[in-house]
Formats: sequence, C-alpha cells, structure tokens
Amino acid sequence: MNSLKEVSVLGLGAMGVTIARLYLDQGYKVTVWNRTPDKARELVARGALLARDAAEALRAGRVAVMCVYDYRAAEAILSSPGAAAALDGRLLVQLTTGSPQDARDAQAWAQRHGATYLEGAIQAAPDQMGQPDTPLLVSGARPVFDEARPWLEVLAGGIVYLGEAASAAAAMDLATLSTIYGTLLGFLHGARVAEHEGFDVAAYGRIVAGIMPTFAGFLQHEGAVIQSGDFAISQSPMRISVEATQRILQSARDAGINTEFPTFAAGLFQRADAAGLGGEELAALIKLLRR
Ligand code: NDP
Repeated sequence: MNSLKEVSVLGLGAMGVTIARLYLDQGYKVTVWNRTPDKARELVARGALLARDAAEALRAGRVAVMCVYDYRAAEAILSSPGAAAALDGRLLVQLTTGSPQDARDAQAWAQRHGATYLEGAIQAAPDQMGQPDTPLLVSGARPVFDEARPWLEVLAGGIVYLGEAASAAAAMDLATLSTIYGTLLGFLHGARVAEHEGFDVAAYGRIVAGIMPTFAGFLQHEGAVIQSGDFAISQSPMRISVEATQRILQSARDAGINTEFPTFAAGLFQRADAAGLGGEELAALIKLLRR
C-alpha cells in the first residue's frame, strides 16, 4: 500500500462518514474513529479499520482528518488519553467548523505537540462533497498545504488556499456565511411577500435562482470597489437602494406583514443617505459599518 494513500478520519457524523467514504472510494487505507463506534459499521464493512480510541486513529498514519460537531468536541478528543502524544509527527487537517480564534488556538496546540496543522472550512453539504467544484477553504503553512493537497483534493476540487494564518479559513467562512444569512433573510421576507400576494412560492424560488448568477457578479464588483477605495458611482448609486429598501418596508406595512427585515435594511440605507453617501456607489455603505 502506497503510504500516500493512508488516512485517519476522526468523527463520523454526516460529514465525517462522507469524508471516509470518499477516501475508501479512492482506494485509501482508511482508519476511522468515532465517539459512538456504531456509526463506523458501514465503513468497516467497506474495508475501513476501526481504531479502539482516538490515539490509535491518530497514530495510524501521517495524515489525520478531523470533522466533529464543534471545537469543544475536537478539544475533548485531542485531550483524551494518549491523543496528544500520538499527534507527534502527524499532520492534522481540522475540518470542524470554528471561529478564527478556535483555529489559532488549535494550531498553537498542535504545534506544541509536534504536529503540523491545517484548518479547512467546508462550504458544501455532505452529498456535494468530492466534486470537481466542491468549495473548501484552507489555511496553514504553505509546505503543509502542499503536502496535504492530494488528501484535500479527494474531498473537494474547489480548494481555495488562503495563506499561512490558520485562522484565515475560519475567518473567510464567517464572512461568506454572513452573505448567505443576509441573502437568506431577504429571501424569506420575499417568500412572505409572495405568499401574501398569492403567488406560487416555488416559482418565486425559481426566479430568485435565475437572478443569482447576475447578483453574484454584482457582489464581486462591489467587493472590488471596497478593496479599491474608489466609491464613485460605477454600477449602482446608493440612492436607488435607499428608495428600494424604503419601498419594501412601506409595502410590508401596507400589507400588514412582518417588517423586521425591511426595517433593518431601510434603516441602514437611510443612515447612509443621512451621512451623505447617497451619491456614491452602493458599496459605500461599508463606511457606515466601519464606524
Ligand atoms: P453531525 O452532528 O452529523 O456529527 C457530529 C460529530 O461530532 C459526530 O461524529 C459526533 O460523535 C461528534 N461529537 C460531537 N460531540 C462530541 C464530543 N463531545 N466528543 C467527541 N465527538 C463528538 O455533524 P456533521 O458531520 O454534519 O458536521 C461536522 C462538522 O462539519 C461541523 O463542524 C459542521 O459545521 C461541519 N460542516 C457540516 C456540514 C453539513 O452540511 N453537515 C456543511 C459544512 C460544514 P457521535 O456520533 O458520538 O455523536
């Protein structure tokens, strides 16, 4: 067996099981461990080796991939008997979602125990893993990333390396999640408008899906505007959004439907207008957020 095709997978929740399966599919020798060993049954039937404890799984090969519920769970595993010693000389890929500070602490801890460390943020559901475009944000020392790349590519074709600071993947994950939740709240308010007006909400979902590629291009432009610091109008004057959010709010009031989301959105844009940003590019709203 080629030693490059060995991996340990710690954590066999929905994501961890998928990760282990993908390695088995690629012919890896896979050692698995989970707090509840029953979840390894199907993987063992497919050829995975079940470690008796986390330490045995960490010792099994050069690369260990961990994907558990949160960093508290990861800490519980790494502080279990023998685990820290077993990490010596190993490469730990932490795919558990955490905060930037969690990642910094974990990297420092791993280094103190003689391990190299990479932080990864999975931006896909389990059944989207292993595809050529599956997004995976990764950060950590460059040579460690280069070494781990073949293991990461089994899981995701769309790897984005964000640099040496282990916290970068977690930070970018937070930033992109913010886009997702902001969009989701707007989508749900729109769904309420659609159902109140008697529209087919599934049709509304399809229309939204259709405008998303254009919207994504627009967001990309606004990101570049913020980075450049040039807020002269280039695509979308702030004033249009001041009026649009006010219209969404007023219509919600007229219809007697929930106004929480439009109150928040219209309030921000009105403050931007009052601050004299109405004649700038939409992205200038960030100036308000910097205060
Ligand atoms: P699950 O809830 O399916 O699984 C949780 C895993 O964590 C199980 O293996 C569980 O063990 C383990 N665990 C929880 N607490 C402890 C503990 N105290 N000690 C040891 N093990 C513990 O979660 P997922 O697999 O879905 O998610 C795993 C990670 O992947 C999360 O950080 C999540 O944010 C991230 N992720 C998940 C996505 C998804 O769509 N599922 C998408 C993107 C990221 P046990 O079986 O014994 O309970």
